[in-house]
Amino acid sequence: MSGDVNPFESLQEQIDDAAAYVDVGSDALERLKRPERVLETTLSVEMDDGSIEVFTAFRSQFNGDRGPYKGGIRYHPNVSRDEVKALSGWMVYKCATVDIPYGGGKGGIVIDPREYSLSELERVTRSYANELRPLIGPDQDIPAPDVNTGQREMNWIKDTYETLENTTAPGTVTGKAPTSGGSAGRVEATGRSVMLTAREVFEYLGKSASEATVAVQGFGNAGSVAARLIDEELGANVVAVSDSSGAIHQPDGLDVADAKDHKGETGRLSGYPSASEELTNEELLTMDVDLLIPAALENAIDQEIAQRVSADVIVEAANGPLTPDADDVLTDRDVAVFPDILANAGGVTVSYFEWVQNRQRFYWTEQRVNEELERVITEAFDTLTDTYEETDVPNYRTAAYVTAIERVADAADEAGVFP
Ligand code: GLU
Repeated sequence: MSGDVNPFESLQEQIDDAAAYVDVGSDALERLKRPERVLETTLSVEMDDGSIEVFTAFRSQFNGDRGPYKGGIRYHPNVSRDEVKALSGWMVYKCATVDIPYGGGKGGIVIDPREYSLSELERVTRSYANELRPLIGPDQDIPAPDVNTGQREMNWIKDTYETLENTTAPGTVTGKAPTSGGSAGRVEATGRSVMLTAREVFEYLGKSASEATVAVQGFGNAGSVAARLIDEELGANVVAVSDSSGAIHQPDGLDVADAKDHKGETGRLSGYPSASEELTNEELLTMDVDLLIPAALENAIDQEIAQRVSADVIVEAANGPLTPDADDVLTDRDVAVFPDILANAGGVTVSYFEWVQNRQRFYWTEQRVNEELERVITEAFDTLTDTYEETDVPNYRTAAYVTAIERVADAADEAGVFP
């Protein structure tokens, strides 16, 4: 893993790579490469022992030309200003790729949540929500879960906002528990879009999904659900999965739900009794499988690992798991990489459905959510592959960015420049 690659520079390089194929002037392009604004704030929070601890937190609003800023909130010790800026930009181009009416944003707190009690985490989250309050709202900026956050944190943010504003405004944040205005199908949505993308990829490349072997790096919400649905709904053979404790391998196919139970009980995948062997994350990334799914953090696959990747196809469940140099190597080696801004867009797509339901105060069945999600992802996949075939772009990522940049640039152009 290449920790020294700056994800914000990676995002800008991806935009530059695609800009060569898009009719957009250099002034307009410069706007599309930078966030509109970034909040950096210090949270002072009382710990259970009465001491005060300070935390650095961010919210980046990258672009709002297509709609309210939208994107998750990450709790991780490695959160940085440039990481949040990159992640907010990826949200802009992700929402444009699947054509939902949002701009992009992202937030994060520099914190290892495992080191804090439940009540400390609640105070940290409410303190952050208080700082965000002037910026967020159903028509301004709509947070959601990301790494190490989920329904619990979203419910706290919603409650803090509604209390301070003396209103009910469930559409201020998505990814809530269904009892607090969340949508059916939201928890599974990111993994579901990874599965749907994999299904479309196999069909497009003329390969059989049910005969495919699959390795998944990362076993959080995106990776664990993607692995389970690829096993259950595509009938593929998930032979290896990993988390930060290492990888487990079973050539006959893992029982993904059982592996998840093991992680739930012990906190880690390592030690899973039904695996035939344990591997490192790097060994998993270079395994000879038909489909590799990086589902952890940025920069998991750098140039050096890319040279040793043996998979034929990569579908990105994480945001930014390949460095730009790794992308170049994999393009040269004819490994088909289907990008994050399509494959993991199910999360924000069902967030959009949640926000629509919140605005209408009318709730959909899980079946309806999943059908609408399938329509959005398959249409975006077809647009991506049409662009790939109709232009000279070198890879599928650049094809996705061509369409996304055109959509954002058109909206920016129509808006004009204020003042
Ligand atoms: N954090 C997710 C992402 O990176 C979901 C964002 C959202 O639902 O707004 O796409």
